[in-house]
Amino acid sequence: MRHIPLVSLIVFIIFLSACGEDLLPTSSGNVDTMITEEDALAQNYNHRTPGYDMQVAIRDDVDGDINNILELLDVRAEVFLDCQFMMGSEIGSDDFKIPSGNTVFPLSMLMVFVVPFNFECDAVDKSICAGIYYFGSDLIIIAEEGLGRCGKLPLWKHELGHRYGMAADHNNQDEFEPCIDPPDCDIIDFPEIFARE
Ligand SMILES: [Zn+2]
Repeated sequence: MRHIPLVSLIVFIIFLSACGEDLLPTSSGNVDTMITEEDALAQNYNHRTPGYDMQVAIRDDVDGDINNILELLDVRAEVFLDCQFMMGSEIGSDDFKIPSGNTVFPLSMLMVFVVPFNFECDAVDKSICAGIYYFGSDLIIIAEEGLGRCGKLPLWKHELGHRYGMAADHNNQDEFEPCIDPPDCDIIDFPEIFARE
């Protein structure tokens, strides 16, 4: 019995530390091997987004244009922040107090590791991720591949949502839903069903 508090604490810490994301359908079906938080932290964050100055590492086997990816990260972040808080997109450039009272640091503090495919992950509720946000490290791993024909990185806004107050267990996801949904798609262009929880 006396081990229960320790186990509870460990479970709680794991719960706080990671939020695994929704598996998206991919055309290739590629799934990368395990990528851990430590793997991501060991990357070289030698790219910066032109707008928010986010720190970005792009794995060698990502085949998209690097500048496009960097710009996309900025643009989508701007759209998300503007939509979610309606206080202008510049809140991403400064300390920003979210409604819960917590302060979120500027996006220039965020590390983003872009990988080509969905990957095995150490999330609590999932073993395959298309994106994951680590609260403790202020780090997002995001898969570039398989992100739909209606624009890249639809899960990017979801992960940013976690950074800006969406709970790891998604209990308040409805407050974010209008601003984190994948980009609008023509129904004819988008026959797949998203496997979102
Ligand atoms: Zn999530």
